Amino acid sequence: MSTSTSEIGYQDIFKCSPAAILIIDIDAPYYTILDANDAYCNATNTQRCDMIGTSVFGSFPANPTDEVSHNIEMTHFSFQQAIQTKQSHTMYNYRYDIPIRGTNEFEERYWTTTNTPILDADGQVRYFIHSPANVTELYKLNQKEQAGIDALKNQRQQLYSSFMQAPLGICIISGGDLVVQMANDSYLELVGKSRAELEQQGIWDAVPEAAEAYAPVLNKVIETGEAFFAKEHEVTMIRKGRPERIFMDFVYEPISDVAGVNNAVMVIAIDVTDKVVARRRIEEAEERARLAIDAAEIGTFDFDPANDNIVTSDRFNAIFGFDGPRSRDEFRERMHKDDLALRQAAHARAPETGKIFYETRLIWPDESLHWIRVQADVYFNGTDKPYRMLGTVLDITEFKRLQQQKDDFISVASHELKTPMTSVKASMQLLERLVKTQPSSDKIPLFLDKANTNLTKMQHLVDALLNVSKIAAGQLALHKTDFVAAEMVNECCDHVRLMGTHELILSGDTQLQVHADKERIDQVVVNLVNNAVKYAPDSNKILFHIAQTGNMAKISVQDFGRGIPPEKLPHLFERYYRVDASGVQFSGLGLGLYISAEIIERHGGKIGVDSVVGEGSTFWFTLPLKSN
Ligand code: ADP
Repeated sequence: MSTSTSEIGYQDIFKCSPAAILIIDIDAPYYTILDANDAYCNATNTQRCDMIGTSVFGSFPANPTDEVSHNIEMTHFSFQQAIQTKQSHTMYNYRYDIPIRGTNEFEERYWTTTNTPILDADGQVRYFIHSPANVTELYKLNQKEQAGIDALKNQRQQLYSSFMQAPLGICIISGGDLVVQMANDSYLELVGKSRAELEQQGIWDAVPEAAEAYAPVLNKVIETGEAFFAKEHEVTMIRKGRPERIFMDFVYEPISDVAGVNNAVMVIAIDVTDKVVARRRIEEAEERARLAIDAAEIGTFDFDPANDNIVTSDRFNAIFGFDGPRSRDEFRERMHKDDLALRQAAHARAPETGKIFYETRLIWPDESLHWIRVQADVYFNGTDKPYRMLGTVLDITEFKRLQQQKDDFISVASHELKTPMTSVKASMQLLERLVKTQPSSDKIPLFLDKANTNLTKMQHLVDALLNVSKIAAGQLALHKTDFVAAEMVNECCDHVRLMGTHELILSGDTQLQVHADKERIDQVVVNLVNNAVKYAPDSNKILFHIAQTGNMAKISVQDFGRGIPPEKLPHLFERYYRVDASGVQFSGLGLGLYISAEIIERHGGKIGVDSVVGEGSTFWFTLPLKSN
């Protein structure tokens, strides 16, 4: 049996409709509730009887904690819209909290509500239906979803910003066609290209200068899926049209898509040129310092007083006569006992000056004596106990020897000059007296002669000294000619023949001609022959020999005197050197051989000696032959 329209109980339908409905009067701004159905009461936790006849806004006041949604104003607006336009007006997803009955609390609710005007036969709005749908669950779900989407978007943006702003150069190249998909600013700067020159271009078209070295590497990464790491690779990049040599650390890292297929390569690169250049500079500076220290034969040490630990260089150990590192005590034990106080005094001054400086003697186990100069910087932090000493030692034995030699020379030279001078003075006094008392005495010529001889001796000494200063100033001028060596030797030895103490025998090539300064060579031969006479007083022969060796003439002077100990031989031609430094037995300044050596060397010749103690010595020198 069917039901006709007139039979349908609309009142019941209203009452039981699952849609929440409120019927409201148009009496703005009061808006009296005319009726409410069950669904409405359920949705809003209200009783129908409590509402009817009251204002909507009285039944549903605004939640004082919700200051942002302005739902009351919105609702007013919607009501007016429905009434004025005579059309339904819908408010979507707005917040309108409902009071929790019996408390002052509110429950957060979201609604989508339609206000539908109901018109009478004249087309006038009589009342309107307010039908809210509770969309709180949906709204919250949406909110969550939106928050998730926003977070993702944010994350993506953050990732992109990090990528773009990273201080490392990053570039993504697609695996198939090797086209650059993305590159950040650092990467563009690194390869010296603009974004347009690089992005969406084939990598090797964009950076051809790196293709030869890196194309095979990139291909291999794509092929094998294995990353490639490079450290401090030297690459020449064309930056702003100019080649620039740079050093890079970089990685070619294969990257896969969601399916796990490697379809791109990420290049991460950093320009480490400054670091490499700075390090190389430091290394070079260290190397230079090391070479300088080695060249200067300086030993170095680094002492840590807290642990009594000393780190020394090989040279330091060698200067102390050790073949490897030793403890500080062992080094100290090598120092001469008499110098320890000096060392202590130097250390005591350190807190004030921050430096240590002293010279001390070392006694090696073989009892040889070595002079060293110790210099150090001492570091303190607040107390007078140092926490570090960094310093050098220098072997100054030779320097001390030369200093000693110079001191000896001054006393020898004064002595050598004083003897003839005293003699001249005595002769002059006698002469003065004789001239006054016996002006015709036959002793006068004798004393004059003696004074003269002594003056000549002094002149020779002064000449030698002048020669030395000329040599030192590089002013020894040579006037070379060709002459027969044997003739020169013969001529310059007359004074020895006159003395009659030694027989002079000349052998060898007596025709050999040399190209040299005759006067200077004469001086050399005289010096050698005088030494032969002086240091071989008991033998009666001096042999001269002249021979050609290669393209030089060799002239030797052999005596049969006392000879020279082998350890002294290397020093004979040094300035002021005398085998018998005390000069007790033989007088001399130790300059003759030094001057001779300088003269021969200036001629491009060599000078030397072969000697056997007790048998005699052969001094020789070479000179260039006469040029043809
Ligand atoms: P001086 O003779 O004035 O000391 P020299 O330079 O001529 O200076 O010689 C240096 C030293 O070489 C001498 O002091 C001497 O000890 C040694 N000497 C030179 N010639 C001979 C020689 N023929 N025999 C032995 N010793 C010599």
